[in-house]
Amino acid sequence: MADAKLVSALTEAAEARRERLIEVVRQAVRIPSVTGAEGDAAAYFAEQCQRLDVELDIWSPDIDELRAHRAFVPVEYDYAGRSNVVATRRGMGGGRDLVLYGHADTVPVDPNTAAAWTHAPTGGEVAEGRVYGRGAADMKGGCAVGLVALEVLEELGVRLRGNVSAQFLLDEEAGGNGTLAAVLRGHYSANAGCIMLEPTSPRLLVISGRGAQFYRIRVAGQEGGAEYHRDLVSAIDVAFTIYQAVKRFAQMREAELDAPLYAERWRTKVPTAICTLNAGNWPSTVPGEAVLEGTIECLPGEDIHAVVARFERYLREVAADDPWLREHPFSFERFGLWFDAAGIEPEHPFVTALRAASRDAIGVDPKVVGGGGSDLRLPVVYANCPTVLWGPGGGMIHSVDEYVEIDQLVAMLKAVLVAAVEWCGVAE
Ligand SMILES: [Zn+2]
Repeated sequence: MADAKLVSALTEAAEARRERLIEVVRQAVRIPSVTGAEGDAAAYFAEQCQRLDVELDIWSPDIDELRAHRAFVPVEYDYAGRSNVVATRRGMGGGRDLVLYGHADTVPVDPNTAAAWTHAPTGGEVAEGRVYGRGAADMKGGCAVGLVALEVLEELGVRLRGNVSAQFLLDEEAGGNGTLAAVLRGHYSANAGCIMLEPTSPRLLVISGRGAQFYRIRVAGQEGGAEYHRDLVSAIDVAFTIYQAVKRFAQMREAELDAPLYAERWRTKVPTAICTLNAGNWPSTVPGEAVLEGTIECLPGEDIHAVVARFERYLREVAADDPWLREHPFSFERFGLWFDAAGIEPEHPFVTALRAASRDAIGVDPKVVGGGGSDLRLPVVYANCPTVLWGPGGGMIHSVDEYVEIDQLVAMLKAVLVAAVEWCGVAE
C-alpha cells in the first residue's frame, strides 16, 4: 500500500482539479471528432501535453504496416493527416509502467435524432453535475482524466519508478486500428498495465472482451409473380429457416457456456444474431434471393475462427435436412469487423493493484466483470500487457444527450493517481 500522506496529497490535488477536468471535457467536446476527422481533437490533447515535461510521440499510422498484421480491421481509408498522440512521463527506472488509454474519435450525431438533443452535441454544456455532448462519456471524459493525471504528477513533483503515459488514439469506433498502431509502435509491454478509461464507471472493472465476427448469408428462392407464390419457393421463407437455426444456435451457446464474469451483468453472455435481412425488389414479385447479416461472438478462452467454423457447420447440417436448401446451398461469408476474444484473470496482480488503489483513493472496491468487444484485446493479445476498461461513466452513450458525470471524472482521477503510485512505485 502507498504511503498514506502521498495518497491524501494526490486525492486532494485531484479534488482541486474538478474545474480543470470540466474545462478539458468542455473544450474537447467543442471540437467535433467523428472517426476519420478526429485530428483536431487529438491535436488539442497534444497541445495540452506540450506544456508538460513529457515525451510526445505523434505519428500517422502506416496503413500498409497495419494491413500486414493479423489483427487489422478492414477500413476503406488510410491515416494520412490523422495522428495518434502518446505523452509519456518518464520514471526514474526500475518500476512497472502505467498506460492511460484514451481515444479521440467519437461516433457521429445521428441526423435523424439531432433535433432531439436538449444540450447541443458540441456545446459542452454543464448541468445537473454532468457535462453534455457527443463524446463527453465516450470518451473525452476519460481522455481528460489521462491528461490531468499527468498534470497532477508533474505539479506535485511525484517521482515514480515506472513511466506513466496518456494516449489519445484514433479510429477506435471503426474497430481499433489506432490502438493496433500503438501496439506496433511499442507503447504497451508485459512490464506495463493499461487502464482504458472507457466509460464503465469507477464501480466496474472490466477485465475481458468478447471476440466477434460479422457474417453474411445468401439464400436462393424462386423469383416470379405473386399470383404464383404457392408454387414458388420464396427466398424469405428460406431466410426464415436460416434465421430460426441461428436462434437455436444462439440458445445452445448460452446454455453450454459457463462464464462467471459474464453471468450477472448481461442476460446474454455471448450473442449470435441476425440483424439485417434484405430480400425482394418489388411488392408483387416473389424474391429470388435474400441476404442476411449478423454477428457471432465468443468468450475469452475461445478462438473466434473456430467458433465461426462450428457455426457454419451447424447451419450446413440444418440445410442438409431441408429439401430446398439441400439442393440450393446457402453461401456463408465473413466480412468487415472481427475481434479476438481476450482477457486477464481476476487474480492478476494488475487487477489486485487497481482494486487496492481504488479502495485507498475513493473507498470503492470495483466489481470485476467481463465486457463486450473492445480495444482491450490488442494490448493483451499482441503485447502481453494486462489491460482493463475502467473510467468515468455517464449515460446515453452513442445516443441523444450523451453526458459524463463530473463526480466520476474526479473519482477516476483520484483512483488513477493512486494506482500510478501503487503500480509504478515511488522512487527513493
Ligand atoms: Zn469508447
